[in-house]
Amino acid sequence: MTLALDFISPTPASAPDRVTLFVDVILPLPLPRLYTYRVPFELNDNVVIGGRVIVQFGAKKTLSCIVAAVHETPPANYQAKYILEFIDDAPVVTQPQLKLFRWMADYYLCTLGEVINAALPAALKLSSESRIQLHPGFAREDNEYPLTPQEGIIVDALGTVSDGKALTFTEVGDLLGIASFHKVIKSLMHKDVIFLFEHTADKYAPKVLKKVRLAHRYVSAGALEELFNVLGSKPKQLDALLHYLQRVPVVQNEHANHAGLEKAALTSSPRLSASAVNTLIKNGVLEQFDQIVSRFPMDDGTATQPNFDLTAAQLAARDEIMTHFGARDIALLHGVTGSGKTEIYIDLIQQALAGGGQVLYLLPEIALTAQIVTRLLRVFGARLGVYHSKFSDNERVEVWNGVLGGRFQVVVGVRSAVFLPFDNLALIIVDEEHESSYKQYDPAPRYNAREVALMMGSFQGAKVLLGSATPAVETYYQARQGRYGLVTLSKRFGEAGMPDVELVDTRKAREQKTMHNHFSAELLGEIERKLGAQEQVILFQNRRGYSPVVACDDCGWIPKCANCAVSLSYHKHSHELRCHYCGYHESMVVKCPACGSRAVKTVGFGTEKIEDDLKIMLPQANVQRMDLDTTRAKNSYQQIISDFEKQNTNVLVGTQMVTKGLDFANVSLVGIINADSIIHYPDFRAHERAYQMFVQVSGRAGRKGKKGKVLIQTADPTQVIFDKVMRNDYEEFYNYEITQRHEHGYPPFTRIIKMTVKHVEQGVGEKAAILLAQELVERLGAGAVLGPEAPYIFRIRNFFLQEITIKLERAHTVLRHAKEQIGAAMDVVRDQKEFKQARLVADVDPM
Ligand code: ADP
Ligand code: ZN
Ligand code: ZN
Repeated sequence: MTLALDFISPTPASAPDRVTLFVDVILPLPLPRLYTYRVPFELNDNVVIGGRVIVQFGAKKTLSCIVAAVHETPPANYQAKYILEFIDDAPVVTQPQLKLFRWMADYYLCTLGEVINAALPAALKLSSESRIQLHPGFAREDNEYPLTPQEGIIVDALGTVSDGKALTFTEVGDLLGIASFHKVIKSLMHKDVIFLFEHTADKYAPKVLKKVRLAHRYVSAGALEELFNVLGSKPKQLDALLHYLQRVPVVQNEHANHAGLEKAALTSSPRLSASAVNTLIKNGVLEQFDQIVSRFPMDDGTATQPNFDLTAAQLAARDEIMTHFGARDIALLHGVTGSGKTEIYIDLIQQALAGGGQVLYLLPEIALTAQIVTRLLRVFGARLGVYHSKFSDNERVEVWNGVLGGRFQVVVGVRSAVFLPFDNLALIIVDEEHESSYKQYDPAPRYNAREVALMMGSFQGAKVLLGSATPAVETYYQARQGRYGLVTLSKRFGEAGMPDVELVDTRKAREQKTMHNHFSAELLGEIERKLGAQEQVILFQNRRGYSPVVACDDCGWIPKCANCAVSLSYHKHSHELRCHYCGYHESMVVKCPACGSRAVKTVGFGTEKIEDDLKIMLPQANVQRMDLDTTRAKNSYQQIISDFEKQNTNVLVGTQMVTKGLDFANVSLVGIINADSIIHYPDFRAHERAYQMFVQVSGRAGRKGKKGKVLIQTADPTQVIFDKVMRNDYEEFYNYEITQRHEHGYPPFTRIIKMTVKHVEQGVGEKAAILLAQELVERLGAGAVLGPEAPYIFRIRNFFLQEITIKLERAHTVLRHAKEQIGAAMDVVRDQKEFKQARLVADVDPM
């Protein structure tokens, strides 16, 4: 079956006879092929490629899918079912997207359905399991669009926002008495009246703020005076009213009164009587109302600031980039931390917009903060869309539709923003292109947004700019080979110089007994000095929790996860043992279950322990921690950063999160608590990653004028990598690393595909992996296939793992052939009855 992607007009202009049309649809499921459905004749004109239709799939389930092609050929081996309903009059997925999605499925060895499933925000995926709820911002009286009678029926049934009531699709169908109700749902979603969710967990619990305001009829000097007279004998009520009037300039600014005041500001004030406030409400003096609080506070979206003037060095870099773009489509901006790459991006974005094109600005998950969004909103205003993984589906659909409809010409977003429906991209920026968070590990598609961006650029004729202070070795290699233009910016903005990097030998310090817990005397002394000078400190520890391992001192027993082959980490704050792979947790043990001893001790240390130690040693310091555990809630990350920015916090202790793109003016010391665990990671990219981490976290020091300092604690200061970090010479690091890669045949000289076989039964999994390896060897040659072997962590979430590594030459023809062969080998295993329960996963370009 082929996809007729360029097929535009399904019906011949003067069809004399009834034409029976069929459509091939992409179901958002991991199905190996597209399914064909039949179009009811009277709906022939409704077919839109890239639009959604509702189909029956399986016995009971109905769901929406995307039309990929239209033709007149019935399927050969099954009876095509009819399309149940057409939802869209215009595509929700554009032609360039379909092309890109097909490439992704192909390249990353997964199905088109899996790509579509990852790409579409849940709210664009309708199924009989979907449910609807009133949108938290919906107020029936001041709705901008009138409701149709059918829509009114549904809204009535949903009650009010604070009811939080939900309806299933079946109930919606029953209410309206029709089967084709999906268009009504779509219209309600479009009008922001409802939103959609699939799993009960996603149901939105609106955060409602109870507020009060002065009733409209009292909003004038005269009316107020009369009110004072009436309340003259009721001092408590008068007090409450005066308090309100002090806070809200009612007469001068009617909007201020309309916005009102949080009720709690009155009722919880110790000087006021809560019952007096309630009496004022009861008597209609104050009016009580609910305000739904936004979950991601942002600017109002008006552009208020032009970009900064670029410095001479930045201008030169920008012009060099433009020159490269004259001759090639891809350029790498290698600019040291703090060189002002963002300002160059903004300038280039402005030019691309002026030319009428769209722009996609990709940032790693963690670097997309309020800091950068605010900065961009000031320059681009309402033209800027933001796409973040912590957004609700509703917010995602808004961005999706905003791109489709042309409201957003620039989008700043995380890796999944490559799925957005652009069709006229002029420029794609991939900032911090070396970041591993551009790679999606699980589930399929296991894509790298940087690679997808490059392909997207080539499909849409857009220029792609990769930016980093520590480019990926593979990227730098391409630049050196002349495939990407290379532009270097080696000076920081303003007076800021690069920080001094010093090593502290912890082995020696331990021998001399000068370590305080995990702090050397040097580090501790330096922290104290910086705090004394009112400067701030960042401490980096690449491990969260309190302590990675707990062990019995008497018998050596170590608590292990019930589902994974890993030991549990101790988290002091919650007094729990946690698995970092599956989330399993239990209470900390007091007594060793093996020998009964009470000498169960913590070994090693994580961020929580560092935070704790520091608070004890430097009680005057205000210490905060930033890691996965402290940033789970939607805005907690922003909160921690904002506290640090405002200098409410003196020391920020964190995992990799503190290394990413943050720009703080007052940080003059960065401490790396334990460099060794990062360097000794069993992976060919360990050195690259260590280098990047050290340089990036060092880059947070000394940004505005002050000279920064970096202290790296290590048990072995002679390791090569330190030399490269201290000399701050990327080229030198690269030359060293690329030689290693060449010698050992690693990327960029080869391509790697990692196969994982998962099974709940260890023996069966092993057998399946052996068969897969044999099939691969037969097809690709023994030299290309390594394994199978059990990975270091050989069991996760109850599945036993076996890995096979495939190493291929880089040529495209080799790759294409190899992928076909890998697919065939996987099919052989899947077709064996005894391996029915085995899960086979292919990860192309794993990181
Ligand atoms: P990078 O992304 O290269 O690490 P940033 O873009 O964060 O660097 O810039 C570092 C700091 O210097 C930021 O606070 C930024 O606002 C400031 N800056 C950079 N260039 C300029 C400029 N031309 N004018 C004013 N401020 C600038
Ligand atoms: Zn024991
Ligand atoms: Zn686990």
